[in-house]
Amino acid sequence: MNKERVLSGMQSSGKLHLGNLVGALNNWVNLQDKYDCFYFVADWHALTTGYAHPEAIRASTNDLLINYIAAGLDPEKSTIFIQSMVPQHAELHLLLSMITPLGWLERVPTYKEKQENLEDRDLAMYGFLGYPVLMTTDIIIYKATHVPVGIDQMPHLEISREIARRFNHIYKTDFFPDPEGLLTEFPKVPGLDGRKMSKSYDNAVYLSDEPAVVEQKIRQMTTDPARVRRTDKGDPEKSPVYQLHKIFSSKEQLEYVAEGCRTAGIGCIDCKKILIKNIFTYLEPIWKRRAELINDPDRLLDIAKKGSEKAGLIAEETMKAVRRFMGLS
Ligand code: SF4
Repeated sequence: MNKERVLSGMQSSGKLHLGNLVGALNNWVNLQDKYDCFYFVADWHALTTGYAHPEAIRASTNDLLINYIAAGLDPEKSTIFIQSMVPQHAELHLLLSMITPLGWLERVPTYKEKQENLEDRDLAMYGFLGYPVLMTTDIIIYKATHVPVGIDQMPHLEISREIARRFNHIYKTDFFPDPEGLLTEFPKVPGLDGRKMSKSYDNAVYLSDEPAVVEQKIRQMTTDPARVRRTDKGDPEKSPVYQLHKIFSSKEQLEYVAEGCRTAGIGCIDCKKILIKNIFTYLEPIWKRRAELINDPDRLLDIAKKGSEKAGLIAEETMKAVRRFMGLS
């Protein structure tokens, strides 16, 4: 029986952090056995906001691919590829842009939000406006049936569904399936300052951080403000450190830390030492695989080439039909 197809990708616009790993990548790894998975590094997407910094995009593309594999994506199980190595994405993006109403793109909430958040960049660009068309292309060129999303990303998927339906409607076909959101509950990963972990808040622990850096970051992490002195009692629920314990520590350790925090039986340094040890245990296999891949660029290139070739064959099949529908063959 053919497995249903999943597609997802990340933009190569910066380093990957613990939040990305726990929130998305681990989920992707788990989906590999159940679905026919396509995972890609979205370097063209990164250009929509980072067009002026090609060096950063190149480095980030490489690092993202390393992290995909290091986190457990398996090139034998999943198709792992680089977006720009499958030029059919560009062709379908162009063709879909012929049928996508401008108003749909202007109404996408992230269009204005991102422009406001990235004030230092000039984003009044055609490519930036067309971002959802490119995203749609990435999904439907493989006729993916499922896209893993968090609840807040559901509206983003809606425009892809609308564009796919519009294509089907105009060309009187049911060629493109309606991609469905694969809703996943992600654990919330707090950053070092207690806000959501994010590169833009500069509060993240990166997978590329050296162990000493990780340790230093956790040691400086925000705690319950009530615990000014070692003897002050605290409330673990008010401490982002405890939220990280919930992800990385055992049930017994959680109870020990919570009790010690409430009674001032342990200090914040003791508490953080346990967390640091657990994060190290969690990250050590990833660090090891990262080091192996960094030292073996040929293997990395081979993975990218083989994955992109495989993706390209499927994308080309889709394009043959699309060209026919649109009077081009
Ligand atoms: S003891 Fe741990 S949970 Fe409590 S405030 Fe300190 S760091 Fe946070």
